[in-house]
Amino acid sequence: MNADLHCHSTVSDGSLAPAAVVERAVARGVELLALTDHDEVGGVAEAAARAAELGLGFLAGVEISVSWEAHSIHVVGLGVDARDPVLLRGLQAQRDGRQLRAERMGAALERLAVADALAGARRFADNPELVGRAHFARHLVACGLAKDVASVFLHYLKPGKPGYVEHQWVGPDEAVAWIRGAGGIAVLAHPSRYRLGAAELERLAAAFRAAGGEGVEVVSGADEGKVSRAAAGLARRFGFLASRASDFHDEEESACDLGGGQPLPPDLTPVWTRFDVSQPG
Ligand code: AMP
Ligand code: MN
Ligand code: MN
Ligand code: MN
Repeated sequence: MNADLHCHSTVSDGSLAPAAVVERAVARGVELLALTDHDEVGGVAEAAARAAELGLGFLAGVEISVSWEAHSIHVVGLGVDARDPVLLRGLQAQRDGRQLRAERMGAALERLAVADALAGARRFADNPELVGRAHFARHLVACGLAKDVASVFLHYLKPGKPGYVEHQWVGPDEAVAWIRGAGGIAVLAHPSRYRLGAAELERLAAAFRAAGGEGVEVVSGADEGKVSRAAAGLARRFGFLASRASDFHDEEESACDLGGGQPLPPDLTPVWTRFDVSQPG
């Protein structure tokens, strides 16, 4: 099955509206899609409705930013009830934190002589509660300060770079509890993104498992859609369900288009076996 269980819309930092993400997924042969905007489920209803019209299997999802030790980690929730009040309250708190972070990021960039950085980033953000690093990056490209979004991250927005601000996100236990409380499955997103050594990654996986996490992205756009040997190893050692994810944001910015990754290794159990996906939408 061509399942793509992680992508973004204009509700967070993607460039297509939720219905347009669904249409693109169908055009590209995706059979099961999860929309997983950052700290926000506001696009799920629109995407689910369009998926039902087009006969595409659909799971409501979310990508929650988590602080684990000194690292920012992403946890994807799949098959959540997007009306669950505890989940909604938690995501609102995350977005409130994002607003303060955006102000500090704007101030940091203005000290680097980027005029009106926050106002500029806001112009790229459809959702005023969700001004993230990608929106700042697009503004800096538009100002001519870098050739593309990837180089803005490299020179300004990665940890240790002058436009990066530390932020305290929710902890893994709470994020996983929100997802499970809303009937979903918690999946550790793109483990290769965190620049953790093998031993640290193992500790993260153990902490995530202990928190109630059940899956890991074995194929991710973060690895250009190739099978990650490290992630497959975690799935085998910890008994995680395996997910397949483009992490698609935008046609030009994303390394992997919707549905574009490799198939999962055949010995792993796909996370979608846990859902009844016979009913489109
Ligand atoms: P935030 O949640 O605001 O910290 O932003 C994280 C988002 O920034 C990711 O989901 C990507 O959309 C984007 N991002 C992170 N690192 C990079 C990178 N090296 N190149 C391009 N986009 C990136
Ligand atoms: Mn993003
Ligand atoms: Mn992510
Ligand atoms: Mn993502």
